Amino acid sequence: MRAEIISVGTEIILGYTLNTNTYYLSNKLSEIGIEVLYHSSVKDDPYLLEEAVKIGLKRADILIFTGGLGPTADDITKEVVSKTLGLNLRIDRNMKNLIKEYFNRTNRSMPENNIKQAYLPEGSNILPNEIGTAPGIYIKYKDKKIVLLPGPPKEMKLMFEKYVIPLIKQDFVIKTAVIKTIGIGESKLETLLRDIIEKQQNPTIATYAKEGQVDIRIIAKGNNEEKVNTLLEEIIKKIDSRISEYIYSYEDKTIEEVVFEKLKEKI
Ligand code: AMP
Ligand code: MG
Repeated sequence: MRAEIISVGTEIILGYTLNTNTYYLSNKLSEIGIEVLYHSSVKDDPYLLEEAVKIGLKRADILIFTGGLGPTADDITKEVVSKTLGLNLRIDRNMKNLIKEYFNRTNRSMPENNIKQAYLPEGSNILPNEIGTAPGIYIKYKDKKIVLLPGPPKEMKLMFEKYVIPLIKQDFVIKTAVIKTIGIGESKLETLLRDIIEKQQNPTIATYAKEGQVDIRIIAKGNNEEKVNTLLEEIIKKIDSRISEYIYSYEDKTIEEVVFEKLKEKI
């Protein structure tokens, strides 16, 4: 799954605010195995933002926006994203009450323009904001996942960790296989497998030299378990056909365990 992070805000483009949200999100997404391909930053300008949305839809499976969800007229992310996707905005009674409650809780009266934050694109889900008024929004659009997060870093981080990570992981499978080899050096092994290693993006293949041994680590990703298993099996077969005489385990076993099992079979 390829992701793009789109930060929205004139203050970022002008250099008044350091774009720490993109830094944080990239780091977290990489940690859970999502490949971030692009970072975009765009002014609070409806035309430019619409262009950024269209470009993002062409080149990524997950689009994560930050910023522009506030109550003021220059906060346009939700409006522009909805328009670009062809989704109508509808007032959400629940959301309206939540925003009112937030102001009651903090002993303030709600300014009229905060009502803007209770409008949601049809078919979307709210990502609750426990420490601010701007809710996040999750939109499943065809085979894409689109997430709108507020700009303030504290709110964005809490929402991302609590609600967005589980949503992304929901239909995303990542599996690792380890092939253990002995009796062959890392460079020779790499030469024998070079074309396979270079061609592969999913699964990825990497070799790790240890004392007298080399492990081959294979990581496959996909949106369902069956697909990921097939990817792994195919690549293991290919590797096996090239270097089977050096492989002592397809599981994560030590040489001692494998030798012990072989000897036991002979009793
Ligand atoms: P907004 O949601 O666009 O109203 O943003 C509210 C505030 O969040 C801004 O004034 C910034 O201080 C902060 N902010 C917005 N985007 C970012 C970002 N990409 N990185 C760090 N801070 C941000
Ligand atoms: Mg802004």
